[in-house]
Amino acid sequence: MPPAAAPLPCVRLLATGGTIAGAHTTGRGYRAAALSIDALVAAVPQLATLARIDVEQVAKLGSQDMTEAVWRKLAARVQRAVDNPALTGVVITHGTDTMEETAYFLNLVVRTDKPVVLVGAMRPATAMSADGPMNLFNAIAIATAPAARGRGVLVVANDEIHFAREVAKTNTTQLGTFASGQRGLAGLVNSGRPHFYAPPVRRHTAASEFAPLIAASVSERTLPRVDLIFAHAGMDRALIDAAVAAGARGLVIAGVGDGNLGATALAACAEAAKKGVAIVRASRTGGGVVERNIEIDDDRLGFIAANELNPQKARVLLMLGLTCTRDLRMLQEMFFAY
Ligand code: GLU
Repeated sequence: MPPAAAPLPCVRLLATGGTIAGAHTTGRGYRAAALSIDALVAAVPQLATLARIDVEQVAKLGSQDMTEAVWRKLAARVQRAVDNPALTGVVITHGTDTMEETAYFLNLVVRTDKPVVLVGAMRPATAMSADGPMNLFNAIAIATAPAARGRGVLVVANDEIHFAREVAKTNTTQLGTFASGQRGLAGLVNSGRPHFYAPPVRRHTAASEFAPLIAASVSERTLPRVDLIFAHAGMDRALIDAAVAAGARGLVIAGVGDGNLGATALAACAEAAKKGVAIVRASRTGGGVVERNIEIDDDRLGFIAANELNPQKARVLLMLGLTCTRDLRMLQEMFFAY
């Protein structure tokens, strides 16, 4: 008698919507999150060769409507899945617009070494040559791959594997929208065969101090308000003052160049910092490192440098950091550690 085939690994597939579940309406338009996860899985029968998949529709939205409440629900669902010894990994379908923020949030709050993979698509499911089916196939394959363990939360699209910390959406519509800047890709994936490169560089998942934040006892607490303001030539202080008046406990500035901002806006930030608002200087350039005390005297003004995080991810880290401390030195250390 031939030896019995090894049982297939089990993967939990959590759905949130996005263009991967999108369907055309009229003309050039389409609606994200129109299709259920059952319909997406049914469209890729080859998934059955990779894993036994159980599905849950956690949300049904375009990711421009992603909220902290959905993040928390998702984080709790992911944690429950990875704590189940019968499950090998988790895949999350998600719109690409804010995928990098959700991925980085989960990278900081889920405690696990198991693969957690976010996947999306740039073309709706009803499009000619839709990219969703292959992206989903690749994501499920990576969720079952032993080599994917311990790499933190991953994003898979367009035959590429990205680390949550490094990935950014860089193009409005092209299939190759995701890029991982100067740190580079986590790996490549060819028809379900992953090839991993160097491991991630900073603390994540199992080693993150933020993981207990999603414990049941604090799951209803909201994160502190952190606003994000895009700097520009001729910037005044109106938006900074408005954010402070709205109750912001932190402010991320997508600064020009090396996280810079002009004298008027700088003075407003300095006043806000004196009032106890945590000010993080990030860069609107999309690359590079924002260092301390270059053109702006962070030590004197009480500012934090975002280091390598883009502004939207700096906001995620600052919100989580502010749940632990308001100490500027400790907050700055977090930007060097995560
Ligand atoms: N706005 C949609 C979303 O983020 C479309 C982008 C996409 O999913 O590719 O859900």
